[in-house]
Amino acid sequence: MTEERAMEAALRPKALSDFVGQQTVRRQLSLVLESSRIRGTASDHVLLSGPPGLGKTTLAMIIAAEMNAPLRISSGPAIQHAGDLAAILSSLTEGEVLFVDEIHRMSRPAEELLYMAMEDFRVDVIVGKGAGATSIPLELPPFTLVGATTRAGLLPGPLRDRFGFTGQLEFYSTEELELVLRRSSAMLEMNVASEGFAEIAGRSRGTPRIANRLLRRVRDWALVHRVDQVDRATAAEALEMYEVDERGLDRLDRSVLEALCLRFNGGPVGLSTLAVLVGEETETVETVAEPYLVREGLLARTPRGRVATDQAWRHLGLTPPDRHPD
Ligand code: ADP
Repeated sequence: MTEERAMEAALRPKALSDFVGQQTVRRQLSLVLESSRIRGTASDHVLLSGPPGLGKTTLAMIIAAEMNAPLRISSGPAIQHAGDLAAILSSLTEGEVLFVDEIHRMSRPAEELLYMAMEDFRVDVIVGKGAGATSIPLELPPFTLVGATTRAGLLPGPLRDRFGFTGQLEFYSTEELELVLRRSSAMLEMNVASEGFAEIAGRSRGTPRIANRLLRRVRDWALVHRVDQVDRATAAEALEMYEVDERGLDRLDRSVLEALCLRFNGGPVGLSTLAVLVGEETETVETVAEPYLVREGLLARTPRGRVATDQAWRHLGLTPPDRHPD
């Protein structure tokens, strides 16, 4: 396990009450879970959507813990054949929580098998090949599917409709990220001043995973430079070195804005053209870089394509073009 994975596991909140922020989703989810506890049944299927690192996996683990149920973890890319999914489903125990990360990447046949499993707790297993193939219905114990996706819109309608509850995770505020950082720094036995937390939180792209990652980089920097207490200046200096700017933009975010401004005079540009220019997959630009740039008011989606806002030009140290000549 890499250090990042090991630390992520250690830093994950274990109960809904330790989970910072996301008030709306937390409140709604806690009601769904409480009701199924009272009814004594498996909870409704839950879909969690939002950019990477906002806590979808953590919430799936919390759901299992709160339901006192075992958790099985899989992912869309790992489920390429209907048979892969049938094998997982048929080995579930009653009430088990099945977490499927990147559920939008599951293959079509697997997805269709999942419809019936979600609705009727039943799958048809095909045995044999060709003319001799027969389909054997298999009853499944009631289970709870928790699906995670970077954007609910990536899922086909029939699949989306089969989730009883959809939680849309939002970017975290700086104050919420400071809480995440305080907790993590205590576990890492780091000495950080309040302004140090604020500086790291402000550069964390509204994302707890990034906050924890930046905290570790600051820890490295402080260790090597023999700094006892991390203050604002130390945090800023360390993070500048890792090319994380004061607004939290990383290299991909800046490449997207630079491509828009410098190659297309601010746009509009189609998403796929933009992705090719920055050397990334379209989905990565759309689900990783774009949501944060939009939230920060640096990029706008228009029917004709993506557009850099005046703020984006200024952030890159450039003068916005005069779009309204008199
Ligand atoms: P996702 O599945 O959405 O990519 P994860 O659940 O893996 O995100 O979260 C990434 C890391 O961020 C985890 O290690 C966890 O410690 C931290 N984290 C995420 N959400 C929260 C939260 N609300 N409170 C505290 N830590 C969080």
